[in-house]
Amino acid sequence: MKTDFEAYYASLRRQALRQMEARQRECSALDPAFDALQAKRSRAFSMPAQGAKLTLSTVRLEEEALLKRYGLPKDYLQPLYRCPLCQDTGYVGSPLKRKCACRLKLEQQDRAEAGRINERETFEAFREDIYPDQASKQNGLKIMAFCQKYADSLPAPKIPQLYIYGLAGRGKSFMGNAIAARAIQRGIDTLRLTAYRMTEEVMAGFSANSSPLPRFVQVPLLVLDDLGTEAMIPNVTAETLFAIADQRSAGRLPTVYISNLTPDELTERYGERIASRITDGAITRTIRYSGNSLRTSKGDGR
Ligand SMILES: [Zn+2]
Repeated sequence: MKTDFEAYYASLRRQALRQMEARQRECSALDPAFDALQAKRSRAFSMPAQGAKLTLSTVRLEEEALLKRYGLPKDYLQPLYRCPLCQDTGYVGSPLKRKCACRLKLEQQDRAEAGRINERETFEAFREDIYPDQASKQNGLKIMAFCQKYADSLPAPKIPQLYIYGLAGRGKSFMGNAIAARAIQRGIDTLRLTAYRMTEEVMAGFSANSSPLPRFVQVPLLVLDDLGTEAMIPNVTAETLFAIADQRSAGRLPTVYISNLTPDELTERYGERIASRITDGAITRTIRYSGNSLRTSKGDGR
């Protein structure tokens, strides 16, 4: 599940080089003098150090003059890195290297994303001995088998939406997390968050002038947990949920809703317009956790 930062930076550098090579080809078509300078530069590498240095700086000046003649910026034939500080290596400083600001920011974002998936709550980590009785166990295992099949059929399951509900402490959140974790393992971009967090992020987006809504609406798998426990903030909660439910159901995008509310209670809280999209029988499998509370009372209680 961990992001490979080295590979990421390597791909940025490759991209910078590819784009530079394209500009080189463009210049060489423009004027053969560019090629001549390039040849001169290549020869410099077989010269003794002092002479090489002099030649390279002369070539550089001539090249800048030539670029100027064509109205091109003087760094046009240099690789243009996304981060000029570290030249897309992720590190700055010599000989003692330290992480560049761009990399620290990236790692921070990565932690925030990964923090939404609990790596201990997976299908692999599921234990059957948490059920207090046979009936609960039967119900739980059936749901588990279905959810696992759903996760393995992503990104295009036959039934795109799940509405999982039941009382607290039955393992609903565990199941939502397990689906998200499996999806991520399988390389599917996934977002798992609580409805509380959803409204928080929308509110934060107002002040930062960057709405998280496009991501909520478009991410290939959305797992929305704890639906019904968030505050009903006027003009935010219901509007956000409607945008998500409307666009995701219309696009048949895989979405897992998890709630303590029965479908009737869902309608009561959010209204028909929203609830019908979340529990639409044509695209949604509604799953009820019956049975008694699990033995793992130490957990998050959900
Ligand atoms: Zn950097």
